[in-house]
Amino acid sequence: MSRLADRAVAAFGTALLPPEHGGPAPAQFVERVGRYVEQLPATQRLAVRAGVLSLAAASYLTTGRSLPRLNPADRARVLGRVAAVGPDMGAAVEGLKAIVLLANGADAYADELLARAQGHDPARPDAALTVTSSTDSPSVVTTDAVIVGSGAGGAMAARTLAQAGVGVVVLEEGRRWTVEEFRTTHPIDRYAGLYRGAGATIALGRPSVVLPMGRAVGGTTVVNSGTCFRPPDAVQRRWRDEFGLDLADPDRLARHLDEVERTLQVAPVPLDIMGRNGNLLLEAATALGWRAAPIPRNAPGCGGCCQCAIGCPRNAKFGVHLNALPQACAAGARIVSRARVERVLHEHGRARGVRARRPDGTAIDVLADTIVVAAGAIETPMLLWRSGLGGHPRLGRNLALHPATMLAGRFDDDVYAWRGVLQSAAVHEFHESDGVLIEATATPPGMGSMVFPGYGAELLGWLDRAPRVATFGAMVADQGVGSVRSVRGQALVRYDIARADIAKLRVAMEAIGRLLFEAGAAEVLTGLPGATAVTSLPELREAVRRSDPASLHLAAFHPTGTAAAGADPQICPVDPSGRLRGVDGVWVADASILPSCAEVNPQVSIMALALAVADNIAGAHR
Ligand SMILES: Cc1cc2nc3c(=O)[nH]c(=O)nc-3n(C[C@H](O)[C@H](O)[C@H](O)COP(=O)(O)OP(=O)(O)OC[C@H]3O[C@@H](n4cnc5c(N)ncnc54)[C@H](O)[C@@H]3O)c2cc1C
Ligand code: SF4
Repeated sequence: MSRLADRAVAAFGTALLPPEHGGPAPAQFVERVGRYVEQLPATQRLAVRAGVLSLAAASYLTTGRSLPRLNPADRARVLGRVAAVGPDMGAAVEGLKAIVLLANGADAYADELLARAQGHDPARPDAALTVTSSTDSPSVVTTDAVIVGSGAGGAMAARTLAQAGVGVVVLEEGRRWTVEEFRTTHPIDRYAGLYRGAGATIALGRPSVVLPMGRAVGGTTVVNSGTCFRPPDAVQRRWRDEFGLDLADPDRLARHLDEVERTLQVAPVPLDIMGRNGNLLLEAATALGWRAAPIPRNAPGCGGCCQCAIGCPRNAKFGVHLNALPQACAAGARIVSRARVERVLHEHGRARGVRARRPDGTAIDVLADTIVVAAGAIETPMLLWRSGLGGHPRLGRNLALHPATMLAGRFDDDVYAWRGVLQSAAVHEFHESDGVLIEATATPPGMGSMVFPGYGAELLGWLDRAPRVATFGAMVADQGVGSVRSVRGQALVRYDIARADIAKLRVAMEAIGRLLFEAGAAEVLTGLPGATAVTSLPELREAVRRSDPASLHLAAFHPTGTAAAGADPQICPVDPSGRLRGVDGVWVADASILPSCAEVNPQVSIMALALAVADNIAGAHR
């Protein structure tokens, strides 16, 4: 960053985490933040710079002095005053705070995190993959089928096709990561390297929603939490009956769901590695008489080091880079990494291949008559638009996010939420009735400090008490009101949450609060302005009731639906077999084809539907 921006970051640091009260020295803070911010895409980097410079200017304007020249209490007051100007300003200050606390916390806990990463031998070695970096790939490749994206959907499709004797090349924008890198790389570099846009992607709205997406060989399964739920029967029936998606008929999908669970080796979290965060959730649910259970996960050999979101250092989490992709390679598939597909090539209404770009901008053409697009719910419509195949009016629409909220509880004794499985236990009590699925979810050590309220001494106090904090999250089954658009070639995601879904979030927040108090929390952090910490259930209810939806802190990890598959050609860009309408030879097999929110963590649903689509593609090749 520029020296001016560095000074502004340092000033922000002295206000947020004053060195006088034990916060990091300004130079250390600048180094920690710079390490992350330098890895952000240019737009976000500029936004961070503009944000810290505006805060520096606000200090001059309101006090006549720069932030570092004020005493710590006045610095915190300046931040509070700027944040209180309105919901947009509040969101801007909170956004900046989240970014710098992520970077600061990751570095502060880096030694502990890496020690835990290296505490055990990997459960298994890296898988044998036929993977070539695009820089070493020939510029023209010919094959039968090319798959864009190596994540949940792409990997499953690749395996089915390769095993059916179809020649397969998988093109993946991200790179391959090794377990040794997960064991030794600084947490913030893992975070920035494994996610699209260094993990700072958002869906704009009121409130905006943090929307991280993986980018690696293995896609988002490399960074996901390993939770493996089958789609509820009611959801499968809705897809079949309302959308004419026969693939989702429960009797037909069951075999693919079984196959996914077998491939992923799904099993409930063992109690001995769950950790106290999950145990508190289960104990509280039992006391309340609510249905709850350890989460089924794809993590054979998990040691509970809570780093799933930045790559498993034990190779225990069984993402598709460790099963479906090596199985596809064993059957002859080849993967080209660091190859961003720019467009699908087609002529006279028939697919002819794809053009991808290496990181240096040079082209690779992979020529094939079958293209399987599996770039994820945000990038799949972008690719189709870039290719001149985005004519369907519903492409990019119908985006459901399954938005998530999180509450934290402060206990009188240690919880160490990060010593255990990252996502470990679930409460199902409100799932069918309200579409609310509650999951005990922690973050890698140090990387969740954005849940803590306040600035200055108050915030530092919370960081000190972090070991005593438990975090429970909930996701709500939402309507597909979001959209993706291409603006100057960049994905612009818009999501204005529906009123009915805000009501579900309120149910979720109250239920989480009840669980935390039942578990023994002395206070609950709501994230709501004006009532950030509450000490009783009535206080929480009142805070939730009065809350302005625009001030909710939301994140989402499950975007789906932007190229919905179904029978109605007016509504669904993809037909019920998985073919993109309007062109021959292009299929879609990822989160985009889910007609509506899966209402559970969706990787199993996506993989099962991808297997079903791939069977159809293999059938077309016979
Ligand atoms: C932090 C996090 C935790 C999660 N936890 C869970 C969980 O516990 N359980 C669960 O069920 N779900 C979870 N999910 C969601 C789940 O992982 C995703 O829904 C799923 O992986 C999506 O599958 P996909 O095939 O659509 O896309 P992805 O798995 O995202 O794969 C798409 C791939 O395509 C690549 N790509 C995109 N554009 C291009 C291009 N133009 N050229 C080449 N390659 C391209 C991307 O780099 C990416 O690797 C989580 C998600 C996140 C972010
Ligand atoms: S908690 Fe996650 S990162 Fe740690 S060993 Fe288990 S699966 Fe791997």
